[in-house]
Amino acid sequence: MTFYSVRLPKFELLTPRTVAEAADLLASHGEKTAIVAGGTDLIPAMRKRERTPEFVLSLRGVPGLDRIEQRDGQTVLGPLVTLNQVKDSSVIRDSYCVLAEAADRFANNQVRNMATVAGNLCNSSCCADTSSPLIVLGAQVKLKSSKGERTVPVEKLCQTVFKPTLRKDELLTEISIPKPAPNTVGTYLKYTLPGATGYSFVGVAATLTVEGKLCRDARIALVASSQCWLREGCLYECPFPFHATEAEAALKGKGRDDGAIQKAADVAAQTAHPMVNTDYTREMIKVFTRRALLQAWDKAKERGLA
Ligand SMILES: Cc1cc2nc3c(=O)[nH]c(=O)nc-3n(C[C@H](O)[C@H](O)[C@H](O)COP(=O)(O)OP(=O)(O)OC[C@H]3O[C@@H](n4cnc5c(N)ncnc54)[C@H](O)[C@@H]3O)c2cc1C
Repeated sequence: MTFYSVRLPKFELLTPRTVAEAADLLASHGEKTAIVAGGTDLIPAMRKRERTPEFVLSLRGVPGLDRIEQRDGQTVLGPLVTLNQVKDSSVIRDSYCVLAEAADRFANNQVRNMATVAGNLCNSSCCADTSSPLIVLGAQVKLKSSKGERTVPVEKLCQTVFKPTLRKDELLTEISIPKPAPNTVGTYLKYTLPGATGYSFVGVAATLTVEGKLCRDARIALVASSQCWLREGCLYECPFPFHATEAEAALKGKGRDDGAIQKAADVAAQTAHPMVNTDYTREMIKVFTRRALLQAWDKAKERGLA
């Protein structure tokens, strides 16, 4: 049974007023520092003594980090943008339906009020609901340290469970989402096990770009967890989220074809690397990939594209 204390371990709170100051503090306080955004991952981990940082750096004192902005044809999310802001944003709903649906199916209202998209990506869990939608949307993140800035695709940030490719001296300052190609539709479907507080057992993000009733482009990415992790919090190293490129290939150039959709779902289930490789997990990946693709085609039909 996991040890779960009500009391937090002792730490010193760092409260920078600018992003540059935050980067300098990270550089000077080094590995002993944890950044806190909404705290919905970090605080339980500290209570369980899984993480015992000496310093906790809060970004809340830095103005303007909670904005959703339009810049250079992209939508840019600040590092304090919450899941409820994403869920309620008309820009996200209209242009990035796959992300809006992921936010809609995320935990509960209380958690969504605090939890940020940046925290979800930086925690990099095997069932992070925003990672696969942001991969299919081709989103990138900006990472800042006292030494400079770099831009990394979300697909490269979240490659291994609980180990984002983020250096200890870096903080995520922006998530940029390009405008999807015209005639693109998307869906996020999530399957949750009873008693799993809303975490995905399987979450599938799919987008289709449809022209002349044919699929010109398809993107599929997914997360999958395991009963074992959801129950006991066991950690395994495995590559997730998974970008199902081979499954995408089965759809390109085809219309709403049941055979192509089933083939894509089969290939996604065969090629994914679920943390615990059970027949049940693979079956659920297959079922939910197929359903997500069928729903995406239905949306294309509603828009007169198919
Ligand atoms: C009851 C409950 C239900 C949940 N349900 C779901 C669910 O349905 N789906 C899901 O995906 N998750 C779920 N979660 C997990 C959690 O809510 C999400 O991962 C959330 O998005 C984390 O965001 P946060 O702002 O709370 O992150 P925090 O806890 O503040 O931080 C998470 C991690 O990211 C790091 N971090 C945060 N911001 C930055 C930054 N700007 N730069 C660098 N590092 C940063 C922190 O240091 C920490 O390591 C749930 C959690 C709880 C407690």
